[in-house]
Amino acid sequence: MKLKYDIIVVGGGPAGSMAAKYAAENGADVCLLEKTRDIGYPVRCGEAVGHAGITQFVEMKDTWIAEKINSCTLVSPDGTKLDVPFANETGYILNRRIFDYDLSRIASKAGAQIFTKAHVTGLIYRDNRISGVKVNHIGEEKIIEAKLIIGADGVDSRVGRWAGLKTTVKLRDMEACMQYSVSNIDVKRNNMTMFVGQNYAPGGYLWIFPKGEDFANIGLGISGTYSKQRSAKKYLDEFMDREYPNASIHTSMCGGCPVAYPIKKPVADNIMIIGDAAHHINPVTGGGITPAMKSGMLGGLVAAEAIKKDNVSESFLNKYVKDIDRDFTKRHKTLYKIKEAISKLSDDDINGIARKIDSIPVEKRTLQKVFMSSMIKKPSLVIDVLRVFAGI
Ligand SMILES: Cc1cc2nc3c(=O)[nH]c(=O)nc-3n(C[C@H](O)[C@H](O)[C@H](O)COP(=O)(O)OP(=O)(O)OC[C@H]3O[C@@H](n4cnc5c(N)ncnc54)[C@H](O)[C@@H]3O)c2cc1C
Repeated sequence: MKLKYDIIVVGGGPAGSMAAKYAAENGADVCLLEKTRDIGYPVRCGEAVGHAGITQFVEMKDTWIAEKINSCTLVSPDGTKLDVPFANETGYILNRRIFDYDLSRIASKAGAQIFTKAHVTGLIYRDNRISGVKVNHIGEEKIIEAKLIIGADGVDSRVGRWAGLKTTVKLRDMEACMQYSVSNIDVKRNNMTMFVGQNYAPGGYLWIFPKGEDFANIGLGISGTYSKQRSAKKYLDEFMDREYPNASIHTSMCGGCPVAYPIKKPVADNIMIIGDAAHHINPVTGGGITPAMKSGMLGGLVAAEAIKKDNVSESFLNKYVKDIDRDFTKRHKTLYKIKEAISKLSDDDINGIARKIDSIPVEKRTLQKVFMSSMIKKPSLVIDVLRVFAGI
């Protein structure tokens, strides 16, 4: 590890690896610091992605895929099951342990230096400007200087907070998640199942994402508003006891999803934050792998340009904010408002919608038709969604 780089990326998730790749590829001297022993582990994710999302950045590799997904089943509060085949989309349940690891190898190939067991514990300043990080690298305290720090340190991001950026999330916009990876269960292959309603996961949903024969990620996310009364774990345990009493739990994990607006100001002089740290996550689904890769790519490109032009001021780094705005902020805000509209639906509303959709023959069901039927069954949803699209 050198004592000086152009750019230090803190965090080796999808956002960090993509930022490191694009910055290094475009001429910057980059190091990526990851606090855990292994990039990609522990996995705190349901691991679901779409083919189109990932292949914007990298070609899919067979070793990343635990399961191909070509349909989903939506289960309403009264247990009505709706099978929806995918028309053009293909989904995957990833092996994120391998996927994240390989993304960091791609970053390394582009010229970035990767270090694990490198826990960043603070920022350092020179002449009132951020000039590097303090890091504990395999037990040794070090100070590493850099012109620009990229905080890719995930949902619990501290880098942004240390730099004075406003990263807090409203309680209702922070989903509390709990997931078990389980075997010895009867699971429908090539299909993802989602349960909605107060009894399963208030303000969120419960998922079953298969990962091969008789093995799956089963988890749920509930809005922070509800997790005070009853924890995500309690909801999940109740579901497991009822549906899969004989399952063996191989991995348990909990985590948070910031299903909020993207952070307004993710940059300051000498610093930018990306991925979950900047709340770049789909607020309806909680899917954050692809948005993290996108914000990593856009952040990395601007970071390299800033180094080339020797201008790492907030005003220059604002180019990253503009690129993000152009690419996905508007869509994320729309999705956020749709999330809000959905959260107003009662269990009875959802049951009614499910029954309406159930009357469409399976072979004629598309995600679009499901959406349209929801509108017909619940006209007030039409108004809410129209409002969303009209931007009011
Ligand atoms: C239960 C759950 C299920 C999910 N399911 C899905 C899903 O199915 N599909 C999907 O697309 N998204 C899902 N997500 C969201 C997805 O996991 C995240 O959006 C995505 O990982 C964000 O990538 P990132 O690179 O921004 O952050 P992360 O992947 O969280 O990476 C951040 C990295 O920074 C490291 N780090 C943190 N602090 C420091 C420090 N001080 N020094 C050095 N390193 C540090 C961490 O160890 C970590 O490796 C889920 C999230 C949860 C919690």
